[in-house]
Amino acid sequence: MTTTTNIKQSLINKLAREELIDMIPYQSARRLQKTDNTVTGQTNNFNRKIWLNANEAPGDGNYQLSAECINRYPDFQPENLLKAYSDYCKLPVEYILATRGADEGIELIIRTFCKAYQDSILICPPTYGMYAISAENHGAGIVKVPLVDKILDIEEIIAQKGTAKVIFLCSPGNPTGNLLPQTQIKAVLDEFVDDAIVVVDEAYIEFCSENTVTSWLARYPNLIVLRTLSKAFALAGLRCGFALASPEIITMLSKVIAPYPISAPVAQIASQALASNNLSQMTARVSETNALKQLFVEWLEQQAWCNEVYPSDANFVLFNTPYKALLFNGLKQQNILIRDQSKQLSLVNCLRVSIGSKQELDSAMKAINDIINDNQASESLNNNASANQGS
Ligand SMILES: *Cc1c(COP(=O)(O)O)cnc(C)c1O
Repeated sequence: MTTTTNIKQSLINKLAREELIDMIPYQSARRLQKTDNTVTGQTNNFNRKIWLNANEAPGDGNYQLSAECINRYPDFQPENLLKAYSDYCKLPVEYILATRGADEGIELIIRTFCKAYQDSILICPPTYGMYAISAENHGAGIVKVPLVDKILDIEEIIAQKGTAKVIFLCSPGNPTGNLLPQTQIKAVLDEFVDDAIVVVDEAYIEFCSENTVTSWLARYPNLIVLRTLSKAFALAGLRCGFALASPEIITMLSKVIAPYPISAPVAQIASQALASNNLSQMTARVSETNALKQLFVEWLEQQAWCNEVYPSDANFVLFNTPYKALLFNGLKQQNILIRDQSKQLSLVNCLRVSIGSKQELDSAMKAINDIINDNQASESLNNNASANQGS
């Protein structure tokens, strides 16, 4: 570091909120493994690699965009978009807030309900990383009640009553993959009905849509459901999500969100994707993904190097293998990107693979076979070598 950078750094460190100085930003799949534009100079270089690291859908969406009225500010909540989502999720528009991805929903909820340096959120790790990042960013505390055997530790959550203003439940869970039992979610909602907001993050609910809890919104004033177009709708690049909650909660969140959170082109494309004649594209993609997932899980279960395959209700599969580093690095060398989850609580040796297209998964399975076979060949060479040394 040069002196000027040092001076600038100490000035910024002096002025910035203290907790930001050492804060590590969310390590998104795209930050960890960038789309490399430098190679060909093209702006879209996604095709050079197989992307199985961010739970996106393989590409096939093709929506039309017109730039009409782009000189005007968009509506605070574009009417077409809310109407389309309302038809899709079967809730009145008063129960819906469109956001810049579900990630913005997470942030808004924390900023709305947690006083900085005073209030806390409760999370159940291993879970989605953005809950903790948004809390830290805002200066909210984090109470952790780890999952036990992939489901909630209800007794311990109840024991924390009074410590948290917002409880984040992820169902299906990322990176674990499974739905939480509805009886457990109900127990938390009931127990905290006067004490805390309970967020059910349904980012992956389309892959098991009959399990949504949106019909409970009428009964629980403390429930918020988060949704996104990034996963089943194959629109991760669009940045569009939704918070679903009572009109009272939506009104409160609306005070905190930016004045024009949804740009006009985003609203246009999202409305098309949600139009009833286009929803079949999404449901077809979900069926195909679930079928491919089934095949991939069955394949994993037959592999001697695979210790545990986590049951998945989402579009990704988590598994445990002593060859974690070998597989992750070997695949990366072949431009196949998956996600290392081994640093998460209780997920030592776990890798997560998004269910891409059939070709992408075939390439991944073939590459994994090659990596394992090469390794076994070299291991047996080593064994022979040491045997020959007469040790
Ligand atoms: C992907 C994901 C999100 C974020 O979705 P965006 O709409 O792309 O911001 C939120 N929660 C979970 C559990 C996710 O996996």
